[in-house]
Amino acid sequence: MDILYKSTRGGEENVPASLAVLKGLCDDGGLFVPMKMPEFDFTLSELKDMDYKTTAYRVMRLLLTDYSEEELKSCIERAYDEKFDVPDAVELKKAGDQYFLELFHGKTIAFKDMALSMLPHLMTTAIKKNKADKEVVILTATSGDTGKAALEGFCDVPGTRIIVFYPKDGVSKIQKLQMVTQKGGNTKVVAVKGNFDDCQSMVKSIFNDRELSEEMAQKGFAFSSANSINIGRLVPQIVYYVYAYGRLLADGAIKEGERIVFTVPTGNFGNILAGYYAKLMGLPVSKLVCASNDNKVLYDFFETGIYDKNREFVLTCSPSMDILVSSNLERLIYMMTGCDSKKTGELMRGLSEKGRYEISEDMKAGYKDFAGFYAAEDEALDTIKKIYEKTGYVIDTHTAVAAACDHKYREQSGSRDLSVVISTASPYKFAADVLYGITGKRVPDDEDVFKVTDELYALSKTKLPPAVTGLKDAPILHDTVCEKNEMKEAVRKSLGL
Ligand SMILES: *Cc1c(COP(=O)(O)O)cnc(C)c1O
Repeated sequence: MDILYKSTRGGEENVPASLAVLKGLCDDGGLFVPMKMPEFDFTLSELKDMDYKTTAYRVMRLLLTDYSEEELKSCIERAYDEKFDVPDAVELKKAGDQYFLELFHGKTIAFKDMALSMLPHLMTTAIKKNKADKEVVILTATSGDTGKAALEGFCDVPGTRIIVFYPKDGVSKIQKLQMVTQKGGNTKVVAVKGNFDDCQSMVKSIFNDRELSEEMAQKGFAFSSANSINIGRLVPQIVYYVYAYGRLLADGAIKEGERIVFTVPTGNFGNILAGYYAKLMGLPVSKLVCASNDNKVLYDFFETGIYDKNREFVLTCSPSMDILVSSNLERLIYMMTGCDSKKTGELMRGLSEKGRYEISEDMKAGYKDFAGFYAAEDEALDTIKKIYEKTGYVIDTHTAVAAACDHKYREQSGSRDLSVVISTASPYKFAADVLYGITGKRVPDDEDVFKVTDELYALSKTKLPPAVTGLKDAPILHDTVCEKNEMKEAVRKSLGL
């Protein structure tokens, strides 16, 4: 069965997967969604014997139907190779009464690697398939992790260029170092004087700038997106939910068909949406717990039915979740309207014009698979400490938000289902705050980052990843800083327009 894609806002339909990957965003500003959700064509017990790559192939082929077997397998081989420092790309660990699905064993030690090691291969394959003659320009706004993972993924990939914008004071020291030391002849990194939402909304408006697109087309360029709105990112993310279920079955932790909970530290709603797609495709999931930090727009949305971004933007120690506009929520909204593009478009217009929308009572039936929780800064830090003291296991600040929310969910609902906390970053990526959580002592701002990671090593005894050690003597290659309203000019300049 062929799966085709359409826009959540109705402007496009019958788009093959490869073209949706290539375009990233629909022309009408909507997001590509499958016109029909496929179901697993394997049994759950078969999962026990599948390694990560096999699971990836069996899941992704159901949604990327216009990629041939050979193409897809080649993408998977190249994506999940020795870039990952564990044999099967991800690991499931148990600490106390929680399971942690570690998705940070790739090159940039955050879960974005799971999809962004794959996307460039899906995209270059799509370029060939669609005989696209333009150089693809990946334009990305990042709250810290996407940018670096995209830079690594696209670095020196022929036929592509990548431009990354990050909020100048909104990322961790390690994140910043990772980006400004990025190699590659086709990479450009720009710091913006603003927050992540500023970067993201400006990138969206650059995308939708007709005049600029035409000028670019004349010069042989076409924009695409590596942000989590691209289905080429969403689809690879479904895989690890399915894989985790297989591992739990293989370990005898659950019986076939038993429903489990996934608790997901959420920002742009991409990761958790992939979990939801996994459920719709047949994975037994009783609840997807949407964990937010102090920027609890999503928690409020699940409580009240009102999405309202008009509020103070809080900088937290889980910066990759410091987001007020969760782009991928549009895909859930679309499903909650019963696939009504007109209604989805109206709600999204409310968001762009007034920064808010309210869903109708009947749409709230769509909440049933989700539970919204949030953990404030001190709760997250306290959770790092408690888990460390009880089990010796060290988690990062984003995972801590989820672990805290997972406990709250179980306490409030009385759920006995096994729960898996999605672990999205290595503690080394946010070493100073993790250390603060454990010791209660603030690390001074000007402290040498490598001293901090060494201290964390002394506590966690987990090997320092090359992603950290490799930064020590890396030269700074990117020092451009701009205002929000100069971002478009920065793009033009970088492309020589
Ligand atoms: C991106 C990111 C998140 C949020 O994921 P979304 O898909 O944007 O919801 C959480 N934790 C870390 C470490 C991240 O990099």
